[in-house]
Amino acid sequence: MATMESLIGLVNRIQRACTVLGDHGGEGMSLWEALPSVAVVGGQSSGKSSVLESVVGRDFLPRGSGIVTRRPLVLQLHKIDGGSDYAEFLHTPKKKFTDFASVRKEIADETDRITGKSKQISNIPIHLSIYSPNVVNLTLIDLPGLTKVAVEGQPESIVEDIENMVRSYVEKKETTSSTLKLLVAPNCIILAISPANQDIATSDAIKLAREVDPSGERTFGVLTKLDLMDKGTNALDVLEGRSYRLQHPWVGIVNRSQADINKNVDMIAARRKEREYFETSPEYGHLTSKMGAEYLAKLLSKHLETVIRQRIPSIIALINKTIDELNAELDRIGRPIAVDSGAQLYTILELCRAFDRVFKEHLDGGRPGGDRIYGVFDHQLPAALKKLPFDRHLSMKNVQKVVSEADGYQPHLIAPEQGYRRLIDGSISYFKGPAEATVDAVHFVLKELVRKSIAATEELKRFPTLQSDIATAANEALERFRDESRRTVQRLVDMESSYLTVEFFRKLHLEPEKNTNTNPNQPGPNADRFNDNHFRRIGSNVSAYIGMVCDTLRNSIPKAVVYCQVREAKRSLLNNFYAQVGRREKERLGAMLDEDPQLMERRTTIAKRLELYKSARDEIDSVAWK
Ligand code: GDP
Ligand code: MG
Repeated sequence: MATMESLIGLVNRIQRACTVLGDHGGEGMSLWEALPSVAVVGGQSSGKSSVLESVVGRDFLPRGSGIVTRRPLVLQLHKIDGGSDYAEFLHTPKKKFTDFASVRKEIADETDRITGKSKQISNIPIHLSIYSPNVVNLTLIDLPGLTKVAVEGQPESIVEDIENMVRSYVEKKETTSSTLKLLVAPNCIILAISPANQDIATSDAIKLAREVDPSGERTFGVLTKLDLMDKGTNALDVLEGRSYRLQHPWVGIVNRSQADINKNVDMIAARRKEREYFETSPEYGHLTSKMGAEYLAKLLSKHLETVIRQRIPSIIALINKTIDELNAELDRIGRPIAVDSGAQLYTILELCRAFDRVFKEHLDGGRPGGDRIYGVFDHQLPAALKKLPFDRHLSMKNVQKVVSEADGYQPHLIAPEQGYRRLIDGSISYFKGPAEATVDAVHFVLKELVRKSIAATEELKRFPTLQSDIATAANEALERFRDESRRTVQRLVDMESSYLTVEFFRKLHLEPEKNTNTNPNQPGPNADRFNDNHFRRIGSNVSAYIGMVCDTLRNSIPKAVVYCQVREAKRSLLNNFYAQVGRREKERLGAMLDEDPQLMERRTTIAKRLELYKSARDEIDSVAWK
């Protein structure tokens, strides 16, 4: 794997970026999508598994004569930060393989599990992940070998089946993912394996590669088994591109023979042997530096690097787009709050002011609700005044009763002064009801506007504690205003009783009328003194006076209510609260700015992601210009 070192730095940086992107599901993308995979294609026993192992630098694949690879093996190499290598299969999650011989056995067993011990093939892939500090993140795919004829125990369709399966892995794929529209879907790199001891013209690998990649830009021609060529023949025509031209140079390979495998010759020894083979070869000596598994790995990693670099601008574009989105979301849910108490106090006051602005808009217009106060004055109060029971109170009978009682033993001579006063006082006291009802009605409108304003203050949304603090403070203030307003309207009513408008009575005819009632069937206690008309007139005089008072109060009660409640609410709704907040110590201030825990969590998550995305961008920026 040493040859892939140069790729490691680059891919790791991009990996870090992509993990961030991919970790967050849905909108993200994973490095596996950003990086091309590498698949080996070739005839049966051409050495595909052997080449793949060489590229990875590990022995873990079943190899041998006959059809050994009977299911696709999707091998994901994962770079880890430290520790020793281990492998995991998708079909045995949580089971860690640290012994690679048992990995090979598990591949063979798992193949048999689906296909039986027969020579059947299956297109259900085996997923194997290898975790190692010494690999780059890369997907490699080992495929069953292409064949020409079905052997004993295989269905006739096997030739075609294998070809279709292989094709499905290496065909050019169009991108469907919306995220990846930014990124051109990376297409599989083809390692087209042909054995040197067969005529290249008969190579299944080349045939298929040419079909799916006519320009040859993603095909690497690999010639195996150079050591098995007939004495006196060589592969120079192929290796030097004369037999069949590919865009990338051909690479000759000498893998371990079956005898080597049987003797457990390890990877290092095999590589040394391969190097010796080329160095001492009379035919290939001049090509030594461009032959062998290590060189192939280097070539492949350089190619991967080019492909990845081409992808960098679109990865950066994707990251930038996400950064913009995250910033927008942070703006929407609100930035984090400052921790020092000065800034917190400032924030609280700003939020209160924002609430106050909304509240005033409700009152003054621009937002609905303030008009309901006018509704109270224009509709509710006059209706309540109209309903007062003056008819009953000033009925002839009651007038007679009140006047007579007020006169005592001496009936009045000219005008019943005391009777008038009692009747007027009694009537005026009825105004207290509608006056207080008006105060209460406006109080409830104001309370409702406070509630509405809190809900409508965008800036407050994230602070439930402060919301309820403001609500409490505002409602307390409204209560105080209501008390004051109540006292004031009561006074207005009391004032009407305390001094009567004298002019009103001067204009009236107040003298008692002679009793003309001679009906003996209607004797009353005063029947002998005053007739009914006299009391009727008193009643109507008082009623006229009360009508005048009513007009006055209909106008003055709204003035008092606005003065005491509405105007104060606009002027000083939160004044007490400001004073309290100013005296509060640091901890309490922080507590007032408590937010919905879910929201705080969301913000932290976004902030963290933003941080990671930015570092991912820096990471990628730093490799983009090398
Ligand atoms: P696959 O079927 O294409 O995966 O091929 P394998 O990698 O399983 O190899 C098939 C057989 O060919 C094994 O016995 C290997 O040891 C042998 N083999 C592969 N490459 C070479 C090579 O370059 N030289 C020699 N001598 N044997 C090889
Ligand atoms: Mg194989």
